[in-house]
Amino acid sequence: RKKWKKVMNVLRELEEGCDTRVERLKQVVDAMAVEMHAGLASEGGSKLKMLLTFVDNLPSGTERGTYYALHLGGTNFRVLRVHLDGQRSSISEHEVERQPIPPHLMTSTSEELFDFIASSLKEFIAKEGDGSKPDRRELGFTFSFPVKQMSVSSGILIKWTKGFSIVNMVGRDVAACLQDALTRKGIDVRVAALVNDTVGTLALGHYRDADTVAAIIIGTGTNACYLERIDSIIKCQGLLTASGRMVVNMEWGNFWSSHLPRTVYDIDLDAESPNPNDQGFEKMISGMYLGDIVRRVILRMSLDSDLFGPISPKLSVPFILRTPLMAVMHEDDSPDLREVARILKDIFEIQDIPLKARKIVVKVCDVVTRRAARLAAAGIVGILKKIGRDGSGGITGGRSRSDMKMKRTVVAIEGGLYSSYALFREYLHEALGEILGEDIAKHVILKVTEDGSGIGTALLAASYSS
Ligand code: ADP
Repeated sequence: RKKWKKVMNVLRELEEGCDTRVERLKQVVDAMAVEMHAGLASEGGSKLKMLLTFVDNLPSGTERGTYYALHLGGTNFRVLRVHLDGQRSSISEHEVERQPIPPHLMTSTSEELFDFIASSLKEFIAKEGDGSKPDRRELGFTFSFPVKQMSVSSGILIKWTKGFSIVNMVGRDVAACLQDALTRKGIDVRVAALVNDTVGTLALGHYRDADTVAAIIIGTGTNACYLERIDSIIKCQGLLTASGRMVVNMEWGNFWSSHLPRTVYDIDLDAESPNPNDQGFEKMISGMYLGDIVRRVILRMSLDSDLFGPISPKLSVPFILRTPLMAVMHEDDSPDLREVARILKDIFEIQDIPLKARKIVVKVCDVVTRRAARLAAAGIVGILKKIGRDGSGGITGGRSRSDMKMKRTVVAIEGGLYSSYALFREYLHEALGEILGEDIAKHVILKVTEDGSGIGTALLAASYSS
């Protein structure tokens, strides 16, 4: 039937538009490495901001004491307490309390947002027994938005991402905003470190495994950081650190390249977003957006055919399909795709659609997630290439690739999309193998650090406490 054909056309176009053959992924790898160079060469030299973090030493393991961390991600807010006993082997204890960020706070005022954060910390501290009361309290603030750091403990917000838009915050010192709120609430805690979440993840990853060179987060948003040599940070002449290195926060969510496979759905999503032309890589990869790309495809199919019954107005509601539910549909292994039917009904009020239509929905989820995971893999290899850990660098004097000793290379990774979405994770690993080749890929280890960004931030608060 004609209608059915139209749906198949939409699907075919989507598949073509989302093409991530390995040749194309390699172009993305190269583009990532080139943009990294450009972002390090001059301020504004690339869409990659390549931000200095002033973290020049990762925690050594000798840190002692009790430290706190506040974590403001995209969806959740966490308060942590970590006890360190000076031995790398064990973080003797840590407690976490997490809660969703009330959506109205994402677009309110900075005072309201930080008062909420401060109150949560106050309650958390109030629950402590007297026994665990440290002499003085030092805290690390994990803030997962782009910040121009002035020092390890101060930095100004460059812009919001992930749906946040508090106008009176951009350009202000984030750590000072928090410190002021703590003072307002009468909480005697010092903000010792202001840390991007990826940097926290790298800190914990490196603490546990000294071969860790980079950290990636793929949750509501996506970002990466890595250890760079000071002399490669050309835009900051005269920068000196004892270690000769510094962690660079890439803000890779804003990466862009003409090699990225882009569809009309991406273009529309971007145009209708509060931050058009921004965060292009993130909008193809992260949990905030994948569900909405799928919604847009289903809407198109529904407009073009009667396969999904009468056109449901719910299909036009932005972000109504959250990525975790999209993952449930994608991973539905029941023979009649019961979960797909249930979610289409619950979310979109689409009832009784035939099995072949449900199968198409699963296929759409697959195409969107596979592209996201493979692009993330290409980004990771881009970093490895920049630091000479992709097995290709420095071949001279006729030595072949296989003669080169590839160092064990660990990448810390966290975020709900990677840790909770098995097919995403599988596609990412598969693409790493394809791009690097199995011989090289076996030296590259992705290690999940749960709550790593928070614990790592507490570690940084410890190593940079006064
Ligand atoms: P945040 O990035 O908000 O700090 P997380 O790293 O925990 O927090 O990521 C949460 C995000 O991960 C959610 O917004 C969602 O998009 C995605 N996510 C969580 N669980 C799943 C899941 N089971 N399947 C797919 N995506 C998920």
